[in-house]
Amino acid sequence: MRLTFFGVRGSIPSPGPEFAKYGGNTACVHIQLDDGTDIVLDAGTGIKNLGQQLISKQSDIHLLLTHNHWDHIQGFPFFSPIYQPGRNIFITPGMTTYDEHDAILKQMTGSYFPVHHKSLQSNIVLEAIDEEINSWQINGATIYRHAMNHPGSGSSYVIEADGAKVAYITDNELYPPYRKETDFLQWVDFAMSADIIIHDAQYMLSDMPAKSGWGHSVAEEAVKLALASRAKRLALYSHDHIRTDEQIAAIESHCQEVIAIAEDDLQVFAAAEGLAIDL
Ligand SMILES: [Zn+2]
Repeated sequence: MRLTFFGVRGSIPSPGPEFAKYGGNTACVHIQLDDGTDIVLDAGTGIKNLGQQLISKQSDIHLLLTHNHWDHIQGFPFFSPIYQPGRNIFITPGMTTYDEHDAILKQMTGSYFPVHHKSLQSNIVLEAIDEEINSWQINGATIYRHAMNHPGSGSSYVIEADGAKVAYITDNELYPPYRKETDFLQWVDFAMSADIIIHDAQYMLSDMPAKSGWGHSVAEEAVKLALASRAKRLALYSHDHIRTDEQIAAIESHCQEVIAIAEDDLQVFAAAEGLAIDL
């Protein structure tokens, strides 16, 4: 499979030269399986550029949403394949506590967007999967999910395919002050031996306690999870919208120093738009 980051930012896009290295678009990751299957994780503003690639194909698109906060759905109205006649787009909503599985489509109604989703010529299918079901297949991939620790909750995903395992765990607060959906050791089990963990690392220790309860993790906590899970790689993800390239690079090097001291083989890096990894 090939995994590509199209949006790595949390909360709101960050345009400007000081955000150019890691990128300013909000959450979107693309996985193309060896058989050509397209799996898309989240529909933040990064999905716009992905759409320009996928428009050349006619095959089904499988979009897995974590939750409906704006930074995870706001690119959808600009995703070119939704305007492609007959294109099949299957959307799995996140397991949010608010029962609004169609929120991604509702943003394409009168008040929010000029084009109504009912006028689209693609074939959009919302597939809300029963919350009792925690694994299913998309062609050659097995998908697993777990509830996020985040205001309004949602889904984190593991994708296993082509002999590789990807854990996509964003907008997750590993140590929240509110009641946890998922405990740290359950996360370790979920992400165990992953080839890559993409984990929320929006905050620094200096952001706490002010941002405790906002639904994101401190970068060092993500490192702890990756080490405990014996993952091969950790992509620090969901960068704070105010964090400049220089500041993200400093967080990245700090985490790399921790790994070096632990003499572990884990590769840690800050996710950047356009970065592609073959697994
Ligand atoms: Zn969120």
